[in-house]
Amino acid sequence: MRTEVLDLPPELPGLRRTLTVQRFGEPGARPLAYVQASLHADEIPGMMAVVHLRELLLRMERDGRINGEIILVPVANPLGLQQRVLGGHIGRFDLADGLNFNRGFPALGEAVAERVGARLGEDADANVQAIRAAALEAAEGLAAVTPAEHLKKALLRLALPADLVLDLHCDSEALVHLYTLTPLSDLGAELGAELGAGALLLADVSGDDPFDEAVTRPWVEVAARFPEHPVPLACFSCTVEFRGTQDVADSTGAADAAAIVRFLQRRGVLAGDPGPLPASLCEATELAASEPLSAPVAGIVAFRRDLGARVGAGETVAEVIDPYSGARTAVTATQGGLLFARTSARFAMPGQRLGKVAGTVPVQRGSKLLSP
Ligand SMILES: [Zn+2]
Repeated sequence: MRTEVLDLPPELPGLRRTLTVQRFGEPGARPLAYVQASLHADEIPGMMAVVHLRELLLRMERDGRINGEIILVPVANPLGLQQRVLGGHIGRFDLADGLNFNRGFPALGEAVAERVGARLGEDADANVQAIRAAALEAAEGLAAVTPAEHLKKALLRLALPADLVLDLHCDSEALVHLYTLTPLSDLGAELGAELGAGALLLADVSGDDPFDEAVTRPWVEVAARFPEHPVPLACFSCTVEFRGTQDVADSTGAADAAAIVRFLQRRGVLAGDPGPLPASLCEATELAASEPLSAPVAGIVAFRRDLGARVGAGETVAEVIDPYSGARTAVTATQGGLLFARTSARFAMPGQRLGKVAGTVPVQRGSKLLSP
């Protein structure tokens, strides 16, 4: 393992910020896999998985079983990791400006297409090299001023050259579930089967530029813009939601790391036989068909269905109870589906999101499909 400590520009005079990167395998070997944990810095299950993954990779490295190269970023968001308000950890939003750390990544498709257009030819492999180089150039050229902008730029520069990118997150209370781009659904399904995912949510554009799309959409956009040239979608990227915030345990971390190793074996990054692919627990569904359930009024949250329940159309998933009158307001799913995520909050404000149901009929009409 080779450790690199990248300096992020200091936010204040005298305050040093760094990003620690751990690399396995021969530099430049392919396939290149990139794994980062806890971009939302208060989502710790991914960090735990990386602790176990590093142990497995160290052993495989000693045994000469790393064919490609692996980049681990165990703490993808050192800015958010230190944010505390009155003892509570705030790692999803930047306290400086309220922006979500996993939204608003620069969309590089246009800049990559501009740079690479004249360099594309008939050789698909050469086109892949040219697009990777152009993507890196585009990332180098990004203007960054705030600490979060510098962090996003640094993460993109690390991930853009990769063949496989896993961004490890978690929800509030949830089954393992995945988000990826629709054209990448085959590998998404393979990863989902390996991880035992309960939902695989697909979108061409989710609307808020999360990290996983920032590294893959340039490929889709260049391919669409230059149909006369062979442009493979040479980067698979996925947001992996490792259950809920409280689901941090060595047992799940070890199992998740072992599943990632099998995925990397199947993809040729690591040597060894992963065994047969487990049967998938879910069919892929559209992210637009993931129905957010919100509290219509303020009150005590009493769930009527457990996580992982199949709920029917119109079924009550939770009740919101007025503490003065005991009046109950039902929260129902308009379409049936799998209750794959719930809030851990037990008192809701009006409009607060209480859960998500993965269905098959698009119910989200807006252009922003992800949680705020
Ligand atoms: Zn997250």
